[in-house]
Amino acid sequence: MKSIEKNSKIYLAGHTGLVGSAISRELNRQGYNNIIGRTIEELDLRNQESVNNFFEIEKPDIVIVAAAKVGGILANDTYRADFIYDNIMIESNLISASHQVGVKKLVFLGSSCIYPKLAEQPLREESILSGYLESTNEPYALAKITGIKLCESFFRQYGCNFFSVMPTNLYGPHDNFNLNTSHVLPALIRKFHEAKINSEKSVVVWGSGAPMRELMFVEDLSRAIVFLLSSIDASDIYSLGISQINIGTGKDLSIADLAELVKKVVGFEGIIEYDHTKPDGTPKKLLDVSRIHSIGWKHQIEIEEGIGITYKWFLENFKN
Ligand code: GDP
Repeated sequence: MKSIEKNSKIYLAGHTGLVGSAISRELNRQGYNNIIGRTIEELDLRNQESVNNFFEIEKPDIVIVAAAKVGGILANDTYRADFIYDNIMIESNLISASHQVGVKKLVFLGSSCIYPKLAEQPLREESILSGYLESTNEPYALAKITGIKLCESFFRQYGCNFFSVMPTNLYGPHDNFNLNTSHVLPALIRKFHEAKINSEKSVVVWGSGAPMRELMFVEDLSRAIVFLLSSIDASDIYSLGISQINIGTGKDLSIADLAELVKKVVGFEGIIEYDHTKPDGTPKKLLDVSRIHSIGWKHQIEIEEGIGITYKWFLENFKN
């Protein structure tokens, strides 16, 4: 089918989150006018019967799976059972219900942590399942690998037009700024901001500062998702001998350099300290983005600009 109609019924699972809300804004911007979403209170995606009933009633044409239990290094390491169980339930229910009602195209969002800890960098799509995983997020990564393989298996057995994309680490408006559960960038924005307004002398950054991370502004991801949704089918990915396509900037920086950048954008003048009792996680996870570049997509927002936009959003929207 490749392209999709502007009035196709698109069910965006996870429409209120960091990623889902950005995809929703981009779909609206591009004139898609029949988008549906449900909050967790309205529809618990872990409940198979509820999901099946919802699909029987709504019969969406297109499904975007941006719903997941997500969090930073500490949340992943602490709530290990929830991260594997909730995510496997959510994706299994959504993918099987999509098959049952004949969804025409489904895009499943994974994460760059699905690649083995010591895989060759930059991480090529072929590296999936070639080695052991980083232990801090192994339960989440295993759930996401299962989602990728669900899409591929439904394609191979039933011909379903279901495929997966692997975004790198994301940040932007609507991110989670809770210091116990967030990813590194929103945590640093909040920590430097609070240290600035409280005239503190230092900010504590977890780990050694040495790990390398690739970070992408979430609106670059939403542009990529809408681009892929309207220009490729599942067979275009699986015919390349891969199960998923990477989406990233192709550039990374150390956590220490990231902290310096956030310090500069926020305007904090104290010093940075490192808490070596906190985990570093995987040493580096930089995606190889040559495939998505070759089909005509590239990111637009560089890291410093993206931090500035996110800090502005934080100042205008973050309450407690
Ligand atoms: P990861 O990419 O799965 O490891 O997830 P995170 O975004 O949570 O962490 C990335 C890196 O940033 C890790 O090495 C963390 O130890 C480091 N880091 C430094 N300070 C913080 C912080 O305040 N919060 C978080 N979440 N990570 C931090």
